[in-house]
Amino acid sequence: MSKKVIIVGGVAGGASAAARLRRLDEELEIIMFERDEYISFANCGLPYYIGETIKEREKLLVQTPESMKKRFNIDVRINSEVISLDPSRKVVKVNNKVKGIYEESYDELVLSPGAKAIKPNIEGINSERIFTLRNIPDTDMIKAIVDKGKSKRAVVIGGGYVGVEMAENLRERGLEVVMVEAAPHILAPFDTDIVVNVEKELEDNGISLVLNDGVHSFKENAYEIEVILNSQKKLSCDIVILAIGVSPDTAFLKDSGITLGSRGHILVNEKMQTNIEGIYAVGDAIEVIDYINKQNTAIPLAGPANKQGRIAADNITGLASEYKGTQGTSIIKVFGLTAASTGNNERTLKRLNIPYKVIYVHPVSHASYYPGSLPISLKLIFNEEGLILGAQAVGYDGVDKRIDVIATSIRYGGKVSDLTELELCYAPPFSSAKDPVNMAGFVAENVLSGRMDPITPEELLSFQMENTMLVDVRSEIEYNNGHLEGAINIPVDTLRERMGELDKSKLILEYCQVGLRGYIASRILSQNGFKVKNLVGGYKSAMSMNFKPKKNDNGACGTRQVIDFDTQVIKNETIKGLYNFDKELDACGLCCPGPLIQVKSSIDGMEEDQILKVTASDPGFFEDIKAWCTRTNNELIELIKEKGTINAFIKKGNKEKHVATNFKSPSEVKDNKTMVVFSGDLDKAIASFIIANGAASMGKKVTMFFTFWGLNILRKSEKVRVKKSLMDSMFGFMMPRGSKKLKLSNMNMMGMGAKMIRMVMKDKNVSSLEELIKSAMDAGVEIVACQMSMDVMGLKPEELIDGIKIGGVGYYLGEAEDSNVNLFI
Ligand code: FAD
Repeated sequence: MSKKVIIVGGVAGGASAAARLRRLDEELEIIMFERDEYISFANCGLPYYIGETIKEREKLLVQTPESMKKRFNIDVRINSEVISLDPSRKVVKVNNKVKGIYEESYDELVLSPGAKAIKPNIEGINSERIFTLRNIPDTDMIKAIVDKGKSKRAVVIGGGYVGVEMAENLRERGLEVVMVEAAPHILAPFDTDIVVNVEKELEDNGISLVLNDGVHSFKENAYEIEVILNSQKKLSCDIVILAIGVSPDTAFLKDSGITLGSRGHILVNEKMQTNIEGIYAVGDAIEVIDYINKQNTAIPLAGPANKQGRIAADNITGLASEYKGTQGTSIIKVFGLTAASTGNNERTLKRLNIPYKVIYVHPVSHASYYPGSLPISLKLIFNEEGLILGAQAVGYDGVDKRIDVIATSIRYGGKVSDLTELELCYAPPFSSAKDPVNMAGFVAENVLSGRMDPITPEELLSFQMENTMLVDVRSEIEYNNGHLEGAINIPVDTLRERMGELDKSKLILEYCQVGLRGYIASRILSQNGFKVKNLVGGYKSAMSMNFKPKKNDNGACGTRQVIDFDTQVIKNETIKGLYNFDKELDACGLCCPGPLIQVKSSIDGMEEDQILKVTASDPGFFEDIKAWCTRTNNELIELIKEKGTINAFIKKGNKEKHVATNFKSPSEVKDNKTMVVFSGDLDKAIASFIIANGAASMGKKVTMFFTFWGLNILRKSEKVRVKKSLMDSMFGFMMPRGSKKLKLSNMNMMGMGAKMIRMVMKDKNVSSLEELIKSAMDAGVEIVACQMSMDVMGLKPEELIDGIKIGGVGYYLGEAEDSNVNLFI
């Protein structure tokens, strides 16, 4: 006689077990009970159907009772809830909506009842305006309400995966959305430093966040529902999505003798067997072993549920199959951004007192010279032995494959050294010769080998700075656009010459933008006898720690909703023509400082209170423009990021200063910039004009004093007839005539180097030297030719390009007095 297997629950784990059972044994009698009307539907797709990315409802229904019968010969009984079971008699009691209650016997039983949305017993919870999302009927209800178009405002309670996906999809449908999270941050699988990027993305796309504040109660009236928070703040809206987590749907097992965990999950062994012979359990309803820390936990994800269903079926049919634990590999799309994680995060490791180390890398998704590369922030967590404990990443492209590769390495006991060795597919459109995963391995190895002494942004926040020098090793323009409080600026390329400015008796704590130049600086300094710490992940990681939810524009054109920061009440605010702008600037394709230079010149030509709309593709522009507006006293009224493109709306000359961050810039100082340009080398000329343009775009007065070989940069390219002595004529003949004839200081290779650098600059949309000179002059940079050097070199004023001032050293020194940066190039 063939065995009879009963399955409770007909979706992820249950349907997976049923199909596998049939594939392994054609003789089995298989009955699957499902409480609801639908089986094997795509739970994970439900938010996207509400958001209308998935347009056809049928696409959610992976299998129907009829198709399961036809293909797998499974007796699917929908609308049939198993209300209890008696293992001593091997029967389940079923309540069918039509037939009523009856019993069904089994030889083997698979429990996959899943988990239900938590609904706390608080005042007003039964309002018809409050929805949870688990299945198709829930989806139909929410979608019908949204489709009617009468609901304009939603509050999503709970910032887990379902909450975030619902917030995004409701926003996509045009609703004003506020997300409330009781914990300090959303998405618990991620650490603060990574998840703030997601919070920012939500805000950047118009979702308001209220963190660290739980729901106290609800109050409904004829028109709306009020969400009253623990802080007594009130949020009014039309609908509420309650997504504060799930609890195992195991109430029907109460008197069954099956052992349950402290939170009601079914306890199973690695074969998915419960404590009662012949009864298996899988999916969201069970406790699993955490693959990393080996503790019992519950991780409600579809992948594990499906695999466990298969393993239960294997064991029922005599195939030895084991579940080795859940790693928690998960991923979420948040508008344009992707966030993914695997393994344990810092919070879990700290709670369990497991020692670990952390590194960050911020590479780009594929070769930077191939169009469309976008930054990824990748965090790797590992122990002293190099064993990988977890990884998290955020970015706009290529995040999934990096986390999948690390997740795979973790499965096989991978160490950071394995990441350095992985040979991953590479061509410019897809990756780099050193993939971000390899990069993470390299940095982690440097930390383990002691070649780099890291400090994390979190450690930096509480670091005692006495007897420490904080050094920013980025370029001057980057430093000027924002830096850590108290940092001095010594660009890495000048570090060897300027090492004398550092104190060997002090700890040198240095950082760059993402950690790479910082690592180079730390190697230079440590090999010269300095004690150095490098900020892992650099300024970018440090700044990401600063994110705080802010007043947010929630509105479509014409109106927006904001949270009043005093009362925390959401209110409508009418804004006039937020998206009406007076001037538009397309800065796509330009690299820093190109977009800033163009913004400066556009704003200069506008009246106070007029609005400039800027579109840029340089990812750095998102942060740069905020700093630029803060420093130049223009108001950034809107900043929108859509995959790969940044739109900024800037109101000219508003007096209100934007609040900076925890890492504040140093106090205001005399901040003109002066530069002596002595060199006539092409590369140095380019560098000097990039700095000058950057400073000018910040609204600084810049004076460039050209002396000796530097004067050649200012020569006209055509021959100018002037009266000269023989000596002066010979001198003039030997010197390069103008910017186009300059040579590189290194690797000139008979002029090939200069040509190549111009080609590369063109490919990368970096302005040419001639364009940089023009934009500097347009931006009001004062270009002074040294009178004395002109005399010595026999150069006449007519030979120099137009718009040059001729001055002496006195003029230059006067300007230098009023400046806080004075460079000699
Ligand atoms: P379920 O798939 O929930 O199936 C359980 C079924 O059992 C239910 O249909 C229920 O009605 C039925 N049932 C319960 N009790 C009884 C009973 N006594 N008698 C009869 N029938 C019963 N996971 C991911 O990995 N990625 C995602 O992107 C993702 N997105 C999600 C989005 C949403 C909106 C939701 C709700 C979940 C999402 N999940 C996601 C989680 C994933 O769907 C679950 O982890 C997975 O479905 C769990 O499978 P399961 O079989 O344990 O439970």
